[in-house]
Amino acid sequence: MHRTLGRTSLCDSPAVFLAAAGLCLALTGCRRAGSDEPDDGRLRVVCTTGPVADLARHVGGERVRVKALMGPGVDPHLYQALPADVARLNAADVVFYNGMHLEGRMADLLGRLGRRKPVFAVTDALRERHAERLRPLPGADGEFDPHVWFDVALWAACADFVAEKLSEVDPGHAAEYRRNAARYEAELHELDRWCREQLAAIPEEQRVLVTAHDAFGYFGAAYEVEVHGIQGMSTADEADLGSVNRLIDLLVTRRIQAVFVETSVSERNVRALVEACAARGHRIRIGGHLYSDAMGPADSPTGTYAGMVRHNVNTIIKALR
Ligand SMILES: [Zn+2]
Repeated sequence: MHRTLGRTSLCDSPAVFLAAAGLCLALTGCRRAGSDEPDDGRLRVVCTTGPVADLARHVGGERVRVKALMGPGVDPHLYQALPADVARLNAADVVFYNGMHLEGRMADLLGRLGRRKPVFAVTDALRERHAERLRPLPGADGEFDPHVWFDVALWAACADFVAEKLSEVDPGHAAEYRRNAARYEAELHELDRWCREQLAAIPEEQRVLVTAHDAFGYFGAAYEVEVHGIQGMSTADEADLGSVNRLIDLLVTRRIQAVFVETSVSERNVRALVEACAARGHRIRIGGHLYSDAMGPADSPTGTYAGMVRHNVNTIIKALR
């Protein structure tokens, strides 16, 4: 019986790692180091956020076993890896993360891991191929808003990149990964069209999305929605008092009907905004929960990327139309 050698001692470079992973996959009964799951020959893919894991699941199909480290309600800006996450990352064949500093507190860990196994930021695909569609981060040269998954067509462009990277690790199934990516990309383009049609039904002056943090910039640009977040692009930023006052003015003077809470961010700031508007004589309601940086429970309709997008669009329409 073949016994896997400790990967950390064997695989000091990604090239050696790829060769070792290929050899391991070719042999049956090969137990994966650092994992108690049985080895069924499928690639072990570990992802940070739900949307990234969803992408890997669709592109990898039956050839992969995908685990997302961050579950429902988890804020990726503040997330720190737990010991169990480190074990999963160490046992992974491939790791995908969002990048653009979304997983700010995991950056060092992912950087170290990338020196000894294939670790990829899916947003690298967009930097290389769709830089003109990225939203620059104000005051930070060369940095971009990481919430790219809210432009569905832009997110679809990451599917190809995931297929390429899975193929590098598992060249024997490259054609399958390419086919899966093309199919999922087509599905996402259909979803993109649906979002556009649905949101266009909200009168333009009411098409204003106010949320807990600035996660919806790409959504706003893609679907012609004016977006405002109480906190900045990272929940690690404090809400700025001047911006909050301007936001209250906007809600009151334009008689906006609803603001939204996010499942991965505290409701406190949004509720304070509602109270501040009430004190100025404008009753505004909470229009519902949006899935911004985390998807819903795996066994629910919002447990997939497409389901989360549909939920968000339906919630926004119901509250604003
Ligand atoms: Zn965010």
